[in-house]
Amino acid sequence: MSLFHPDLLKNSITEITYDDLQRLGVRGLLLDVDNTLTTHGSQVLTSAISEWLENMKRMDIALTIVSNATSKRVEPFARRVGLKFISFACKPLPIGFIRAAKRLGIPRRECAAVGDQTFTDIIGARLAGVRSIQLLPILPERQPLLRFKRRFERYIIAGYRRKQERNAKPR
Ligand SMILES: [Mg+2]
Repeated sequence: MSLFHPDLLKNSITEITYDDLQRLGVRGLLLDVDNTLTTHGSQVLTSAISEWLENMKRMDIALTIVSNATSKRVEPFARRVGLKFISFACKPLPIGFIRAAKRLGIPRRECAAVGDQTFTDIIGARLAGVRSIQLLPILPERQPLLRFKRRFERYIIAGYRRKQERNAKPR
């Protein structure tokens, strides 16, 4: 199997099911934060992801956070979701995943890294000997989305103006 390929690819974290994990023989998840549990740099936790986390805990899936971001960024979010964390993990170096699996007390082959980036999460998982589940990023990038939103707004406003003009014309 390629160093670059995950064991499983999903659109988003909430699409990972207990059956998927059973099939992989996984009972511990090492979770990325940015573009995996929330958007880049955000502290927002959606109810869908919060529910998914609670479901996994209920089914005895052990969860922990492994992020390359600073503890300043990761700690408040980890506290919000009630998980232990490793920040500044230096993925794709395997050390963060190795420490996290040890902390969970689960053999590495029964853990899976969950993340959006091939060159950190997936390669790092392979090097650490843990399984990997890749997600499409929640947002590809922030600026293009903003541009899209502005363009969408302009489109809506232009439509509004056309309607106003039509209504203003004498019949
Ligand atoms: Mg990420």
